[in-house]
Amino acid sequence: MPFGFGGAALRIAISPGGTATLMSKMRLANVNAAQWSSRFEIGKDEPANVFGANVFGQTEQRQRLPKHVFRALQRTIERSEELDPSIADVVAAAMKDWALEHGATHYTHWFQPLTGLTAEKHDSFFGPIGDGTALAAFSGSELVQGEPDASSFPTGGIRATFEARGYTAWDPTSPAFLLVNPNGTVLCIPTAFTSWTGEALDHKIPLLRSMEALNKAALRALRLLGDHAATRVFTTMGPEQEYFLIDKTFYYQRPDLINTGRTLFGAKPPKGHELDDHYFGSIPERVLACMLDTERELMKLGVPIKTRHNEVAPAQYEIAPIFENSNVGCDHQQLLMTVLKNVAPRYDLVALLHEKPFAGVNGSGKHNNWSMGTDVGENLLDPGDTPEDNLHFLFFAAAVIKAVDTHQGLLRASVASAGQDHRLGANEAPPAIISIFLGTELENVFDALARGEVYVSPAGELMGLGSPVLPTLPKHAGDRNRTSPFAFTGNKFEFRALGSSMSPGLPNTVLNTIAAEAIDNLCEDLESAIGGGVSVKEAIAQVVGGAYRDHNRIVFGGDNYAEEWHAEAERRGLLNLRTTPEALPELISPATIATFDNYGVLNERELHSRFDVFLEQYVTNINIEAETAADIASTMLLPAALRYLELISASGISAVDGEVRPLVEKFVAAIADLKAVNDEHPEGTESEAVYMRDSVLVAMAGVRKYADALERLVADDLWPLPKYAEILFIK
Ligand code: ADP
Ligand code: MG
Repeated sequence: MPFGFGGAALRIAISPGGTATLMSKMRLANVNAAQWSSRFEIGKDEPANVFGANVFGQTEQRQRLPKHVFRALQRTIERSEELDPSIADVVAAAMKDWALEHGATHYTHWFQPLTGLTAEKHDSFFGPIGDGTALAAFSGSELVQGEPDASSFPTGGIRATFEARGYTAWDPTSPAFLLVNPNGTVLCIPTAFTSWTGEALDHKIPLLRSMEALNKAALRALRLLGDHAATRVFTTMGPEQEYFLIDKTFYYQRPDLINTGRTLFGAKPPKGHELDDHYFGSIPERVLACMLDTERELMKLGVPIKTRHNEVAPAQYEIAPIFENSNVGCDHQQLLMTVLKNVAPRYDLVALLHEKPFAGVNGSGKHNNWSMGTDVGENLLDPGDTPEDNLHFLFFAAAVIKAVDTHQGLLRASVASAGQDHRLGANEAPPAIISIFLGTELENVFDALARGEVYVSPAGELMGLGSPVLPTLPKHAGDRNRTSPFAFTGNKFEFRALGSSMSPGLPNTVLNTIAAEAIDNLCEDLESAIGGGVSVKEAIAQVVGGAYRDHNRIVFGGDNYAEEWHAEAERRGLLNLRTTPEALPELISPATIATFDNYGVLNERELHSRFDVFLEQYVTNINIEAETAADIASTMLLPAALRYLELISASGISAVDGEVRPLVEKFVAAIADLKAVNDEHPEGTESEAVYMRDSVLVAMAGVRKYADALERLVADDLWPLPKYAEILFIK
């Protein structure tokens, strides 16, 4: 009788569900997962154009507010003028009426604590009025300020020293919106979250401070460059979000996915993305239905979704909105992640936002497209069509190069997390070494300026600057480089090292702050050159050339994945902070503290609090993974292997026994190691973080090695976890 069809196997196959079928439990799960058919007609009863339908945006504000209040609010939104507190009551009343008309019963101050997620505490609009009835009320003070308990959120050192009290404060520059649930609607008011001492406990406050710092520096530069039209410069961000969609049947069968967001076990599937058949491939119907619904929900929330496509890995996708000012863009990015997670279950899917849900399969990142724009519509990183634009471009691009080189370690730290360590510094792009891709043509332009020469392009498509001291700029900045962590892509820089699950708040705060500093530095150089008697154009050429000379080590156009780059980067003196414990101290380096303090973005205590919080998150996340791995290994995988050994013994075929038994023995030993390591954490978060990296992750890998080997040997109907080949390919 062929092996596997003996009585023991059959008995086990039919016992779990008690079903009278010969199909194993797992095969049944696969078949169930494949049974999806459309039950939804997305937006059936809704108008075609739903953009902003659930947002208290400009149109609603104009219609519902008295003219002077509307204008005052717009001045705050557009020019960051201080809000006149007397208008809060009027805005609150209009907002409440609008929300009630849309079915809202509650409101919440929606904020972004250092968990990286969003937080909300719902309050009812209705209050008793003494005669046994209730009245909907919402005052200006309720709009402007809330008081959640700060001690329930990570605060780093700030909580230890001061009271736990915290406040949320209305951010009028990010529009309020409605979160609609089948059973009720909540008005969400974007807010900042601060301790009672005024220190930032969230990602929004430093971001807003950094935008202000950049505004000041960039306006100073524009005036020096002869521009008097712009009165405000704001940073822009447009994220590209990668994620996986898998059937919920598989998700709920995997405690590792449920508890840690990633699979802690799983042998490499026979088919990966080797066939390159997924990227930009046709989108399966169920996935497309889910995407369309997600996009529609986001549209209602005013998130301007633009593109969607399949990504490189099987079951991996990308969604990208059109860029917005950084503050609104970051709020919308949080909403995007929330909506992705909330809509997927309607299609029996689960959205995985973890950076590395599947080992050996491409992970997920978030590309952060970043630029600076003026209130008169100029993109300062667009080489443009006219000489003036070119001057602006050269100056501001040089400042970015200087900033990224000077604070490369800080940029790396701003994207550090346990999930990210599977991508950055591992064998996947982008690397942990921060470098900039400019493209050959732009490199030539800057190189020439650095030599005090003027670059003359051999190509035809050029924009002359009408000045012999300045170069002509190519219309296309050259080819693309997908491996670069920080690439110039035509009219913006693309910071590609963000993790898929992370808040984009800190990386954007860092970008804005270091750019502000570099712009100020170059302004000083420009002022002294002009003071020395040279023309503005010549001064710009000198300053841009000088900055490039000092910082061109950060520019790299080659393959960032190649081993040679690591050696070359080291030779250039670039940092290679491979893991989170190595990267995070950059948050509290003397250079970071000096810059952030100088620009009033984060003081030393606020920086330390972030360092503490992120380090603790690293430890906690890995500890949850390690405990989960030990549990799954001992209570699910080992029993399966032991049952299989029984089966082998019964069969009496020694060759199979010889293959499996030694692996099981090593597996048992590895589980014991992991459990011991889990019980022996050292004191102190910093030592603990190093211990997680050097001992716990190593012990987890030890267990996984044998588990994954056994997965490919143990009878399929005994193995309790859905396999990669199933999770990734059944859509
Ligand atoms: P590509 O990256 O292929 O050039 P797009 O031009 O569509 O494609 O840009 C991709 C992302 O960059 C989108 O999220 C888009 O909103 C964003 N983006 C485009 N221009 C800017 C800008 N000036 N500032 C910030 N983000 C931008
Ligand atoms: Mg892109």
